[in-house]
Amino acid sequence: MAINTVAVIGAGTMGAGIAQVCAQSGWQTNLFDAFPEGLEKGMKTIDSFWEKGIARGKTTQQQKQQWSKNISQFTDMKAAVKQADLVIEAVPEIPKLKSEIFEQLGKYTNQSCILATNTSSLSISDIAAASGCPERVIGMHFFNPVPIMKLLELVRHDLCSQKTIEIAQRAGMQMNKTTILVNNIPGFATSRLGVVLGNEAIRMLADGVASAKDIDTAMVLGYKHPMGPLALTDLVGLDVRRDILKNLQKSFDDDSYAPHPLMEKLVASGRLGKKTSMGIYDWSSGEAEECSLPE
Ligand code: NAD
Repeated sequence: MAINTVAVIGAGTMGAGIAQVCAQSGWQTNLFDAFPEGLEKGMKTIDSFWEKGIARGKTTQQQKQQWSKNISQFTDMKAAVKQADLVIEAVPEIPKLKSEIFEQLGKYTNQSCILATNTSSLSISDIAAASGCPERVIGMHFFNPVPIMKLLELVRHDLCSQKTIEIAQRAGMQMNKTTILVNNIPGFATSRLGVVLGNEAIRMLADGVASAKDIDTAMVLGYKHPMGPLALTDLVGLDVRRDILKNLQKSFDDDSYAPHPLMEKLVASGRLGKKTSMGIYDWSSGEAEECSLPE
């Protein structure tokens, strides 16, 4: 099945990036957000990415014009998904919200349309069940920033059809991503390892093993990680990682996934990472600077 039209639900950090890559892949891209300001912000993010590309000589004005024409903005979800061959949902990580959206998607889309969720930690089976057509539902887990990151983690669940998997794999290839196929086990292949590494690095910091910078440098130079686990936790957001850890702790009924108390304290005091200028590091200069931590 050829993909002509993709609908993206939610125009935030991930939805805007996904819509941008869909437009660049030559697909008619219907971008929907429940909030006009969300849609406006998403369109601005895409535009500024392309403008930076032009300034750096990586993108031409002609390409930008062509890609822009591929994107249409929607404030009505039914209209956005009606003609879609693929829908990619990227609304906040709230189980009830995702279920409500998939229930509507099951009704509003045609029978051959693939329904994908960009969830980082929720069960694909649960989301699929809400749609009433689980065979058409798959996890398509993109990484931030979507236009740059090569990985696309596809998550299958028990009722996902082989046809759905194959269409998602082809779509990923057309988006110039490398796909991996994983089973619907909490944390998938990426989030589980990522958060455990970050949580352990925070435990080491609290235990006084070394400074934040030195723990990060250990992994960058010793293990060739492009970025240390503490700086990465600040970039992803301490609140986001704390929530994923709590989901894993509950799903596996295993307290080894419990967020470290220092992580909880940072979140409680509003130090969420780079997005709030303070997390494990002080980011107010734009760079990660060592700073004091709560007792
Ligand atoms: P975000 O908060 O930046 O964006 C969410 C968008 O959804 C907002 O624009 C909001 O207005 C919109 N929205 C809210 N309710 C809606 C509704 N009912 N219908 C349509 N739009 C609605 O969130 P994000 O960081 O882009 O995350 C989206 C999803 O992607 C989450 O499931 C998250 O776990 C996952 N994810 C995030 C990252 C990341 O690094 N941020 C990485 C991978 C996966």
